[in-house]
Amino acid sequence: MNKKTLILINPSNQYRRGFALRRQSRQVPLGLGIIAALTPANWKIIILDENIKPIRLREADLVGITAFTSTAQRAYEIASIYREKGIPVVLGGIHVSMLPDEALQYGDAVVIGEAETSWPKVMHDFEAGRLQKIYRGPHADLSQYPIPRHDLFHPSYLFASIQTSRGCPMDCDFCSVPAFNGHSYRLRPVEAILNEMETLPQKLIYFVDDNITGYSKASEKHAQELFEGMIRRRLKKEWFAQASLNISQNPELLKLAARSGCKMLLIGIEAEDENALRDANKHVNLALGTKTYKHAFRTIHQAGIAVLGAFIYGMDSDTPSALQNRTKFIERSSVDVVQASAMTPLPGTRLFNRLQQENRIIAHHTPHSWKYFHFSDVVFKPAKMEAQELADNLWMAYQKIFSKKLLRIKFLRTLWNTKNLRTAVWAWNSNLNYRAVSMEIPPVVCYDLQNISSETDDIH
Ligand code: SF4
Repeated sequence: MNKKTLILINPSNQYRRGFALRRQSRQVPLGLGIIAALTPANWKIIILDENIKPIRLREADLVGITAFTSTAQRAYEIASIYREKGIPVVLGGIHVSMLPDEALQYGDAVVIGEAETSWPKVMHDFEAGRLQKIYRGPHADLSQYPIPRHDLFHPSYLFASIQTSRGCPMDCDFCSVPAFNGHSYRLRPVEAILNEMETLPQKLIYFVDDNITGYSKASEKHAQELFEGMIRRRLKKEWFAQASLNISQNPELLKLAARSGCKMLLIGIEAEDENALRDANKHVNLALGTKTYKHAFRTIHQAGIAVLGAFIYGMDSDTPSALQNRTKFIERSSVDVVQASAMTPLPGTRLFNRLQQENRIIAHHTPHSWKYFHFSDVVFKPAKMEAQELADNLWMAYQKIFSKKLLRIKFLRTLWNTKNLRTAVWAWNSNLNYRAVSMEIPPVVCYDLQNISSETDDIH
């Protein structure tokens, strides 16, 4: 029997290549692997990631395309090309979930929310010849989480991706995680995660969770069991994950994480200034206080783990001098790896709604301008400076933070603080990734996008 073909596509941003620039920072489109796992066995499935190589038009019975905000325009371009050939397209992912009406202009159907609870119905309806326009499912029960089809991903990814939890009880102003995955923190069974890890060919792992240890004693226990399981099963992986500053209050858990292979934790520091943290509603950091940062970094280092600090430029209380202070803090602090982003109002966030109400979003020639919502450009009018001043300060910050001289100093500091050469090498490589992403193109202010035509790129 001839199988039908489903093509699943992860589009790339055509303007800034971002993490796709370096092989070391390319990320597996894990959600497409989950969709593939939920697709009936009578389908042939192909996963195409435009971040790996240009995609060409192929014959298919159905196409599924996922999109972040920064790749939404490209997703719509690809969808239009397939639909012109008469091939139906289903759009999904976080951007589409936040703006389904926009997406419906470009796809035959849209999936709103987590796909696990609606993809089987999409396939069932398609096979019955009655594809609906909108599919909306509740948040998934992670005890039923399917093992993603890692075998369908391109073999060139250095890092495998894996998920242990979803959702966040916090409510940071700029973050779309609660809107997409909900406020309830849901956990996958530990044994299922370990079983999946055993199948991964890569030694290097990225846990895609927003917080690997969560916000409660129960979630810390879950993380503890996971790390113990990795040690017990001798998985010998090296990994990094996102966590909150509160992980520094549990040195024993940090040591266990390090024994299981943890090399680096991405922590949303956002700012060294409490006014900026209040603007961003960053309660986790406010509860501990900025004065605890130094101690928190030291505790993480003592476990042999590097700190990847995420910082935001452009909060409402930020002035040019406040941004220069942020840069100085980054230069002098013991943060090992730096992610410095322009504040970016993503659809679905309170920030987006507020700035829209205040008429402060200046890149509103959508969907064309979604490609500028990439965390390195200025797409809104800041409260206490001109948009151009924010772009200029961000570019000055990048030149300082990612200067070869500072990166060498940070490498030696990481080595000294963690006493772990492998961790220092991880931090060095990660800084090179962020350097490439940040220095790719100087930040632009997206004022004049209304005048730019949105010509369609051909699929190669
Ligand atoms: S930034 Fe982190 S802590 Fe804040 S809402 Fe998002 S996931 Fe939760």
